[in-house]
Amino acid sequence: MPDADLALGIDLGGTTFSVGVLDREGRLLAETSHQTPQSGNPDEVLEELGRAAQRLARDTAPERGIAGLGIGIPGPVDPHTGLIKQCPNLHVLDGVNAARVLHRVTGLQVVIANDAYSATLAELRHGAGRGCRYMALLTLGTGVGGGIAIENRVLRGPRQILGEVGHLIIQPGGPKCGCGNHGCLEALTGRQAIVDLAVRKLQQGRPSRVGDIVGAEHEQIDPRLIADQARDGDALCAEVMDEVGHYLGLAICNIIVLCDPDKVILGGGIAAAGEVLFGSIRRTVRHAGRISRFDPANIVPAELGNRAGMVGAASLVWEHLA
Ligand SMILES: [Zn+2]
Repeated sequence: MPDADLALGIDLGGTTFSVGVLDREGRLLAETSHQTPQSGNPDEVLEELGRAAQRLARDTAPERGIAGLGIGIPGPVDPHTGLIKQCPNLHVLDGVNAARVLHRVTGLQVVIANDAYSATLAELRHGAGRGCRYMALLTLGTGVGGGIAIENRVLRGPRQILGEVGHLIIQPGGPKCGCGNHGCLEALTGRQAIVDLAVRKLQQGRPSRVGDIVGAEHEQIDPRLIADQARDGDALCAEVMDEVGHYLGLAICNIIVLCDPDKVILGGGIAAAGEVLFGSIRRTVRHAGRISRFDPANIVPAELGNRAGMVGAASLVWEHLA
């Protein structure tokens, strides 16, 4: 279809999914968000996603053709066959060929990818990595994910593991990681690790405004509170952000010598901490990454926020189909 100049993208999450319509220049023409179906068989779940995407396209630009549909999955996939290997927050889709079902429902060509791949592609094409040929993205949240672009392409490798930066080993014998190993970046800088670090310092009897705010209810501590207090000059919280930034900086030094990135982009909720985190990261990279002569000013925040997954999913269409 020569006039098919729009792409649909779906970012699937365990509780909500978002849908967007993107043109070839990466302009987001419309987007919607929906509850992820929590019941039904795999076909019904995927049908609901596909129909939501088609409805959005019809409501936005009924006269324009759709070149294809991309979907980002929060788990490992086989992009070549369209199979979802595992979908940890939506197990009904484990082992399902999502590309085949979505094609049957929508009649569109379908590309699937892991959500970290989608987010990396989005930042490379339309976000903070525009114009870079080499780029690394780290997404800092409950887990630590990311992706690597080399020669202007996001790579995942033959076993789909390339770019899983959360499992770089940063502290041998350190805290246990979800993957079963000890001392991975994710076990040191994931959401829970940051909270645990603050709690350990509070339990030593150290004064902190966080202690004044939550009292003994340590489960109320979250990384945003720690970052806010660090920014306000709380010494304990500043120390937590410093340590977290140091571990991230070491990981980034390793990434730099492997990928020689033009930019290292940090996204996800934890990256919203801003300078109290970025300052520590840049100091570590300046000191530990001398050989690369990487300019720490090229460690920058992501630009697309929580739209990255959806924009990236739609970008898959221009990358792999059009
Ligand atoms: Zn791990």
